[in-house]
Order: sequence, then structure tokens, then C-alpha cells
Amino acid sequence: MTLQHTVQLNNGLSISYGVRKLELKHKWTIARGFADFKDNVFINVEKDGITGFGEAAPNIRYDETPDSTIEFIKKALPVFEKFDLRNYYDLTLAIQNIATQETAAKCALDIAIMDWITKSKGIAFHQYLGLNKNKAPVTTFSIGIDTPDLIKQKIAEAAEFPVYKIKLGSENDEKIIKTVRSVTDKPIRVDANEGWKSKEEALEKIKWLQTQNVEFIEQPMPADMLEESEWLRQHCEVPIIADESVKTTSDIVQLAKCFDGINIKLMKAGGVQEALRMIWLAKALDMKIMLGCMVESSVAISAAASLSPLVDYADLDGNLLIKNDPFSGVKTQTGKLVLNDEPGFGVAPRF
Ligand code: MG
Repeated sequence: MTLQHTVQLNNGLSISYGVRKLELKHKWTIARGFADFKDNVFINVEKDGITGFGEAAPNIRYDETPDSTIEFIKKALPVFEKFDLRNYYDLTLAIQNIATQETAAKCALDIAIMDWITKSKGIAFHQYLGLNKNKAPVTTFSIGIDTPDLIKQKIAEAAEFPVYKIKLGSENDEKIIKTVRSVTDKPIRVDANEGWKSKEEALEKIKWLQTQNVEFIEQPMPADMLEESEWLRQHCEVPIIADESVKTTSDIVQLAKCFDGINIKLMKAGGVQEALRMIWLAKALDMKIMLGCMVESSVAISAAASLSPLVDYADLDGNLLIKNDPFSGVKTQTGKLVLNDEPGFGVAPRF
């Protein structure tokens, strides 16, 4: 894949980066907005004939844009001259310290570095961690907010998946669930994306959802409503999972009494290394762990899927929502994530 910019560094490293437009199969609508496409930033890190692939899915919810992502990558270039790729701990720590935000950009660099490292060792990343790929969970298939006819069509298109994630958080919540239930009795997971604005509204919605074979509720209320989340958790039976309330390891301890689990996304964490630290801490706190995603190609989805044997739930369908995925990588078989044993994250450019 040709990327717009290439920089040759003094230590023999070549770094290419650029924006690729990912076109969505369906307009993607959640509680806070909609999109027909996403501009993600791709990066190649090349040395000794080995190329590590990385991807950023900048998210305006976290004040990120493709431009701010590229600005961050430019600031990271001198750091790549200072540290050897094989000294990836110090390299990525120095990259993390460039700025507090821009986790999608950090993620792109971290994925590319770890893809390169494991390729240089000739093993798949999940093998590098000593994981059993057969323990990879099923992924949900996400159904965005839509008209009843399109919701039915999307569920028919995703018939192979044993569990769906349904986006709620608008005034049409009950109508959406009734539409889903008119065509399937499979279990569902609900994501309100901060859409319910009070604990009373959230409790009322959840009490009804508990009668609808719902496995858990993700981020019912705005990210900073932690006291209300603690109250809500005490008043309902279905598990409550934090998404927008958690980005990195340092957020987790204060959430342990407010939520039953956390949704870890590589783009929020800043890469696979920070995601791993989050997994270990959440396990120590006896919290459920979900691996989620943004709208991403097979690069970032395969990187996340490499960690999935460690977690309880996966929502790694971003690559399935787009029609021009520039890469191939992890597959699904009746919803179960199927990791390959190719070195690195097992991704290859399609064109
Ligand atoms: Mg979510």
C-alpha cells in the first residue's frame, strides 16, 4: 500500500504514513453522531527488509483528527532516531511522553513497532505472549442506530454471528429493541454511548432491557458520572461495562466500584502494550474485560484480536463494517475470532 509521506532516518529506518478513506457499508449512527466514511491514518515502519504495519482511527470524542494524528507522528520521528526498535520498551515510553493525548497516533506507532518486533523474531504476536489462539472469543456484530427496515436488513446480513451489540441512547430505544426482537432471539449486548442523561432514566431503561435477554449494558451515562454509575450498578442485575469512562491503566482503579467491567480499545489505550497493562490490572481487580474497537481496518482489529484469548468479551467488528479494507488479517468463523500464525499481527496489504 502506497502512503503519501516517507521519511528516511539516519539509523536505516524508513517510516511511511498517510491517510486512507475507509468507506462504511452502511451509514454508521450512534448516540452522538453519524458517518459514511472514516479517514484513518496508516503507518509503515521498515528496517532490515521487515515492515511493521500500524493504524490510527482518530476519534473526535477524544479531540483527535487525522491532522492531529499526523502532527503527532511527525513529532515522534526524532524519537525513532534516539532508540533502537529492539529497545521497544524505552522507545514506546518516550513516544507516550510526547503528549498526554493523541492515543490513536500512539496506537498506530505501537502496533507498527510490535508488528516489526515479532516479525523480526519470526513469530505471531499471540505466540510471543504465549496465548492459546483457540481461546479467542466470539465477537459481537454491531448494529448502529437505524430505521426498523435497515436494522432488520443488517441483522439478516450478520446472520452468522451468535450475539449482537445494539447501539441505543436515543428516544427510539424501545422501538429499536422491539425491532431486533421481531427478527431474532439471540442474546444481545447494549451500548448506550453515554446517551442516558440521568441515573433514573438509565435505571428505567435497564429494568426493561433486563426482560429482553441482554447480557450487559455498556456506558449508560456520560463518562464523568461515576457516583451515579455506582448507584446504578447497585440497583440493577445486568452487568455495567465502562467504555468512554476508561482510556488507560490510570483510569481503572477508580472505576472498580462503579462498573462490573471495562471496554479496552487499542485506540484509547495507545496500543497493545498499554492494553496489556490494562488487562492485567482489570484481572487483579476482578473486573470483566471486553476488547472493543473503532471503525478500523484489519490492521488494528488483528492487533486487538491477538490479545483476545485473555478477555471475556470481544467487539472487534470494525473491519467488517467497511467495504474497502486495505488489509487482510484475523477472520471470523460463525462469529469466533480466528487468528492466523503468520509472524507479527498476521496482516497483509490487499493492494
Ligand atoms: Mg462503546
